[in-house]
Amino acid sequence: MARVPRHEFVPRWDQPYSYENRPLSIGQGQTISQPYIVAAMTQMLRPRKDMRVLEVGTGCGYQAAVLAECVAEVWTVERIPELAEAAAARLEQLGYSNVHVKAADGALGWPEHAPYDGILVTAAAGNIPAALVDQLAPGGRMVIPVGVGRYEQVLTLVTRNEDGEISEERGLPVAFVPLITGKKG
Ligand code: SAH
Repeated sequence: MARVPRHEFVPRWDQPYSYENRPLSIGQGQTISQPYIVAAMTQMLRPRKDMRVLEVGTGCGYQAAVLAECVAEVWTVERIPELAEAAAARLEQLGYSNVHVKAADGALGWPEHAPYDGILVTAAAGNIPAALVDQLAPGGRMVIPVGVGRYEQVLTLVTRNEDGEISEERGLPVAFVPLITGKKG
């Protein structure tokens, strides 16, 4: 995280606050998570240099950059095209050639590159989207805020063991913007 220039990911007027431990606005009514939560979610994923990871909710691309420092390849999906385009340009300019950005409904995952060793969802879902579980590799880990409403969300770890069995573990309480999807999870 020390290598990622967080000030490059936020609007100019918020740059003085970009190294404080707080969320910041990134436009389009969306926010970049506070660094503590980015760190906690990244750690829950247990990143390794050989991992292929899917992120849902690119936003400004900050979490994707943190992941890109820790794993082999990152695919990230954002539903607001303006945010996806800005994040892709920013990540390219900063030299993150191992991040791939697409504007689409991330609740459907990114099937072309599945399965993923890790999936990190940075918007809160009422239910864990089935497509994401399907795209999780054996031994894979998914970190997703689950819950309706801003004060009822819990960071949830979904794992698939080598036999394909799925299990869930509940962790930290969090407050994310909602995952907006056309498909029921
Ligand atoms: N990880 C981001 C912060 C994400 S904020 C960062 O580091 O900046 C949550 C993002 O999820 C918002 O940009 C929002 O537009 C996006 N989002 C919400 N629903 C989505 C969906 N179904 N698919 C993809 N992105 C979605």
